[in-house]
Amino acid sequence: MADSAGTVFDVVILGGGSGGYACALRAAQLGLTVVLVEKAELGGTCLHRGCIPTKALLHAAEVADSSRESDQFGVRSTFEGIDMPAVNAYKDGVVGRLYKGLQGLVKSRKITFVAGMGRLVSATAVEVDGQRYEGRHVVLATGSTPKSLPGLDIDGTLVINSDHALKLDTVPSSVVVLGGGVIGCEFASVWKSFGADVTIVEALPHLVPLEDDQASKALEKAFRKRKIGFELGARFAGVERSEKGVRVGLENGKTIEADLLLVAVGRGPVSQELGYQQVGVEMDRGFVKVDEHCRTNVATISAVGDLIPTPQLAHVGFGEGIMVAERLAGLDPAPIDYDGVPRVTYSEPEVASVGITEERAKEKYGEGSVESITYDLAGNGKSQILRTAGFVKLVRQKDGPVVGIHMVGSRVGELVAEAQLIYGWEAYPDDVASLIHAHPTQTEAVGEAHLALAGKPLHAHG
Ligand SMILES: Cc1cc2nc3c(=O)[nH]c(=O)nc-3n(C[C@H](O)[C@H](O)[C@H](O)COP(=O)(O)OP(=O)(O)OC[C@H]3O[C@@H](n4cnc5c(N)ncnc54)[C@H](O)[C@@H]3O)c2cc1C
Repeated sequence: MADSAGTVFDVVILGGGSGGYACALRAAQLGLTVVLVEKAELGGTCLHRGCIPTKALLHAAEVADSSRESDQFGVRSTFEGIDMPAVNAYKDGVVGRLYKGLQGLVKSRKITFVAGMGRLVSATAVEVDGQRYEGRHVVLATGSTPKSLPGLDIDGTLVINSDHALKLDTVPSSVVVLGGGVIGCEFASVWKSFGADVTIVEALPHLVPLEDDQASKALEKAFRKRKIGFELGARFAGVERSEKGVRVGLENGKTIEADLLLVAVGRGPVSQELGYQQVGVEMDRGFVKVDEHCRTNVATISAVGDLIPTPQLAHVGFGEGIMVAERLAGLDPAPIDYDGVPRVTYSEPEVASVGITEERAKEKYGEGSVESITYDLAGNGKSQILRTAGFVKLVRQKDGPVVGIHMVGSRVGELVAEAQLIYGWEAYPDDVASLIHAHPTQTEAVGEAHLALAGKPLHAHG
C-alpha cells in the first residue's frame, strides 16, 4: 500500500540527521523520489546538539583565551568574563542560519519532508501518525543519544549530559567530566577557558584513548599545563548531592566535589521500539548490522550513521548516506575505508589523525616492520608564532607507504585534509617530501615530517 495519493517513493528515509539528510540530498540529486521523516529538527545531533554548537563554544573559548593571554603578544586587553547568554546567542545564531539553509536545500531538491515520529512497519514502509509511506527502499538513520552508566541517573541539572551542557546559561565554577573521550575533552577545554575548575575522570589509562598513545600523552601534558585536572584509570563509583552540588566518588577511594557532573561516556543507538526487530532487521547490542555497503540483512533496507557500528562522526554519516543513495540509484560506489576517515578532537590543543596508530600498525605488519617519526612543532615557524606545542607523527610500513598521521597542537585539525590525501594516496615519504609547502604555515610541519622520514630533515635534528 502506498500513501494516500497512492505514491510509491524510491526511498523512504527514517531520521533527518547527517546520515539521513545526506542520503536524501544525494538520492534526489540522482533523480530518485525521496521521503525524509524527522521527529525533531532536520539536521539532527550534529547541527543542533553536537558538532556545530560545540565548535561555536570552542571558538568563544579561544577568543576568551586570546583576550586573557593577549599580553604574551604585547597586546593590552582586559578579560572581564563570560556572558553566557551572549555566548549562547552567538552559538544559536550559527545553528539557526545553518538550519535555515539546510531546510531550504531539502525543499529545493524536491524531497518530501515529513515532520513526525516514524516507525518501520514493513520491509518497504514507514508509518508516521497513521500515514504510511511506501518505498522501493528504506534507509534507517535514527542516530544515537547520550548513554549513562548503570545506576547513574541524569537529572539534567546537577548530573547532565552533552545535550544539557549546551543549554547552560551560566558558567559553572567547577565541573567533573566523566569520560575522557572526544566529547568530554572538548567540554573540559571550553569550561576551563571560560574559567571553571575542571576534572576529567577516565576509566582507561589515557585521554582520547582511541588515538595514538603519543597523541594522548601530549594532550595530557597540554591539559596539565592548562591546569585541567584528570584522573586516569579511575572508575566511577557513585555520585551524591553535596552542599556545593555533587560529590563524585571513584573506586580508588577519591572523591571530587563540583557544581556539576557531566556524563560523557559515549552514545548509544536509537533503535528501540521502532519496529526494526519486528521486521526482522538483524541487530547487535542495539546497533543495526550492515555489510560494507550499509545493506542490512533485509534486501530493501539499508542503515547509516550512528545507528550502525561505525565511527560516530557526522562526516561518516554523510559518507554512508551518499554511498547508499548512489547504490540505490544504480551506481557502483566503493565501500568506505574507515581508517581513512579523519578524526579531530577540537579541544585546545587539538588532536587530529587519519590512518592507524603505531600500535595497530605493529599488530598489522609486525613489530619490526613499522617505522615512525615525530616532528616537533618547536621547529615550525607558524606554530611558534601561535605559541603552540605539539607534533606531527608519521607511521609507515617499513619501505612502504605512510599508514598513519597523528597530530597535536592548536589548529592542527586544519592539517588533517592533507594528511588524509597522503593516507588515501598511499604515499611514500619521498612523494610528499618533494612537495613544497608554503612558508610559514603549519602545513610545513606535515612536509617537514615527511622530509625527515625520507632521510632528509630540514628544520629538524637527525
Ligand atoms: C557533543 C557532540 C559533539 C560532536 N562533535 C562532532 C564533531 O565535531 N564532528 C563530528 O564529525 N561528529 C561530531 N559529533 C557526532 C555527530 O553529531 C554524529 O555522529 C552525527 O550527528 C550522527 O548522524 P546520524 O544521522 O547518524 O544521527 P543523528 O544526527 O542523531 O540524527 C538522527 C535523527 O533521527 C531522528 N529520529 C530518531 N528516531 C526517529 C523516529 N522514530 N522518527 C523520526 N525521526 C527520528 C532524530 O530526531 C535525529 O534528528 C558530536 C556529537 C556530540 C553529541
